[in-house]
Amino acid sequence: MTSHRTPNMITVDQALQHVLSHAHPNATRRVSVLEAVGAILAEEVISDIDSPPHDKAMMDGYAISADDLADPSQRDDASIELEVIEEVTAGAVPTKKLASGQATRIMTGAPVPEGVGAVVMIEQTEQIQPSRVRIQNVALPAGTNIMPRATSLAVGQTVIAPGTPIRPIEVGVLSEVGRTEVEIFAPPTVAVMTSGNELVTPDVKPGPGQIRNSNNPMLVALAQRAGATVTDLGIARDEETAIRALVEEGLTHDVLILSGGVSAGVLDLVPKVLQDAGVEQVFHKVHLKPGKPVWFGVRENESDQRTLVFGLPGNPVSSLVCFELFVRAAIAKLRGQPNVTLPCVRAALSQQHQQRGDRPVYFPGVFTETPGELPSVAPLPWQGSADLTTLAKANCLLYFPAGEKVYEAGEIVDVFPQ
Ligand code: AMP
Ligand code: MG
Repeated sequence: MTSHRTPNMITVDQALQHVLSHAHPNATRRVSVLEAVGAILAEEVISDIDSPPHDKAMMDGYAISADDLADPSQRDDASIELEVIEEVTAGAVPTKKLASGQATRIMTGAPVPEGVGAVVMIEQTEQIQPSRVRIQNVALPAGTNIMPRATSLAVGQTVIAPGTPIRPIEVGVLSEVGRTEVEIFAPPTVAVMTSGNELVTPDVKPGPGQIRNSNNPMLVALAQRAGATVTDLGIARDEETAIRALVEEGLTHDVLILSGGVSAGVLDLVPKVLQDAGVEQVFHKVHLKPGKPVWFGVRENESDQRTLVFGLPGNPVSSLVCFELFVRAAIAKLRGQPNVTLPCVRAALSQQHQQRGDRPVYFPGVFTETPGELPSVAPLPWQGSADLTTLAKANCLLYFPAGEKVYEAGEIVDVFPQ
């Protein structure tokens, strides 16, 4: 394929590698298992118990002696009458060994008595006297309805590996192995700010020349979804001191995300202010549409506190695409997930699409999965990087490489589900 790449502009992959090489997992922290939900486990969790802790009954019913079991290949009705020698409920332990002709009434979860062959479920039995029971069919394989000790888990076994995201299910497993606290990677703190004289907060009806700040709330939501703890620093006017004041506050966080002010306009002051604040530029501009002006740098202070700084273009769709391509991966790595990239699937175009331009494009579309078939994808009529409303109708971004091309219906493209 012909490369239309402008000299000095790096590719999305190169930019991503730069970002990842500057993002290191956060320090670990010990928290309660409930506080750990959503975070990434930073230790190996080992079981201190066998589960089940004893050979246990899986049904309410009667434990019968191994000697009374009939050959299961004789599937005819081998019924038998037995003497009930004791009753064991969950939490109690049997005191009597089973011999031929005897049964122990047993409840789910209780330890089975010595000499047991199988547990017969209550529905297949009939109590005929207070201490006599008829078992309708003893032609059962040995071990029926008995879960042997340590089948699910053994002492010393690894139950959860480091790097695992903690979900409610892990909270249950951690509790089963006696853990009330675990070591996690500290979730990254992220600050979000924007700059622009035209911006008003979402609760205000914009006046002449004004627009609402939709980026901050969207970026806060994206960063929260990515697992960060997020602070919204608000709007700075297009003026160096105003931007600098918010930047200084943002530099106390692991990640600072700015939107707006990184292009080539007269009021695009962000790169200069960041440089003055000691943020070292890693790249500015990526061969990408939308999102070309994206800026990335790092600030490390005397106490080794490091902030990754992303200057995203102000157009909301550009901000979104750059977040998804770069910021998301950085947050994932900081929180202990080193290899998170945007999930990509292959899909067939449902209609012809004309692709123009010299940069690779991320284009909003509707992606449909049909069982047994390749997914299909339809590009949406989209007005460009300021058109966030169309993105709300989309469920994916389609990827088209740089270059002029008419894609025919049925052609296979890469799709990033959102
Ligand atoms: P800039 O990157 O500052 O040149 O902004 C590019 C476009 O994005 C302009 O039309 C801005 O008005 C718009 N824009 C900048 N910041 C925001 C924001 N926080 N929310 C919504 N639109 C914005
Ligand atoms: Mg601006």
